Amino acid sequence: MSDDITIVACPTCGIQVEWSENSPFRPFCNKRCQLIDLVEWAEEKKRISSDLQITHNEDWSDANSY
Ligand SMILES: [Zn+2]
Repeated sequence: MSDDITIVACPTCGIQVEWSENSPFRPFCNKRCQLIDLVEWAEEKKRISSDLQITHNEDWSDANSY
């Protein structure tokens, strides 16, 4: 009975995610967090190249702590 389960924190919302087949989106807790991370990464790139039309969703930054 040795449960060797690794727990990681979702990079987007910080929730604890089981590093196993149960978590297909690891290290994210779900697909939404995975997408959010991708979008934020893309927006970060956009911000560097041009300062136009940045739509920042307050919903997301709420869960992020830099
Ligand atoms: Zn998450």
